[in-house]
Amino acid sequence: MSLIPFDDRDGTIWWDGQLIPWRDAKLHVLSHGLHYASAVFEGERAYSGNIFRLRDHTNRLIHSGKILGFDIPYTADEIDAACNAVLKANNLTDAYIRPLAWRGSEQLAVSAQKTKIHLAIAAWPWPNLFGADRMKGVRLGMAQWRRPDPRTAPTASKAAGLYMIGTLSKHAAEAEGFDDALMLTIEGHIAEATGANIFLTIDGALHTPTPESFLDGITRRTVMALARARQIPVIERRIPLDDLDRATEVFLAGTAAEVTPVRAIGTHSFTPGAITEALIADYTALIHMSPEEVAKRAA
Ligand code: PMP
Repeated sequence: MSLIPFDDRDGTIWWDGQLIPWRDAKLHVLSHGLHYASAVFEGERAYSGNIFRLRDHTNRLIHSGKILGFDIPYTADEIDAACNAVLKANNLTDAYIRPLAWRGSEQLAVSAQKTKIHLAIAAWPWPNLFGADRMKGVRLGMAQWRRPDPRTAPTASKAAGLYMIGTLSKHAAEAEGFDDALMLTIEGHIAEATGANIFLTIDGALHTPTPESFLDGITRRTVMALARARQIPVIERRIPLDDLDRATEVFLAGTAAEVTPVRAIGTHSFTPGAITEALIADYTALIHMSPEEVAKRAA
């Protein structure tokens, strides 16, 4: 991964309706989004020039804003067009796309009713989150932070503030030599990794936690549809941590992580097997299909 800071690159960023030079996309330090985390974002990937499930990401972005009490001042069609314009302006066909909406600088206090809502969209090349070696499987440590109870935080929103515990957990896991951290729900059930959902195979079926305190990921839903198309039973339920003893294969699913096998969680080990391999193959085929084909198969 490139270590060039994001503010020291060239390219084009879409900002409040205009395509502007990358280096000019600067924010005033007294922005509400920075101080109070009144910001929501998306993480999308384009493959062969098509942004995978773009409208689903755009709808989630708009919905995330509504959950935080604001309306992004663009329609879904305008946001989709802007994402595609950014891809084109940067001459990218395979890329990560990052839309971000935030409250501006008109007010800087807890009450922020009069702040303007901004939207910016950037895109850059970003190979898989876990790098080229990921097919061997990643290792997860146990996070010291739990996903908040949905009554204590807007967990269905892809809200910037919710990533605070993700960064803390990921840093602690990395300090211990792990690739990522497994976060638990407030009750101690398996929840997700810091930036991807989790799946376990138990007795030939695919099990995944019910998304009550974390994102119901677009990749998660895609993988569930792909598994069902292969007649693999898919079971959504609250999964106790002890079920790691019964799991044979484990993998992560997310836009940035794609489908990544897990080879260890703490002291538990797993061997990526037939189900993980089949779903990786199906996911890889799907992301390269036309948006129309994707809509048919990933519903
Ligand atoms: N959980 C978290 C915390 C994430 O950041 C992501 C990535 N957006 C996901 C799950 C997976 O969501 P998606 O498949 O929609 O990218």
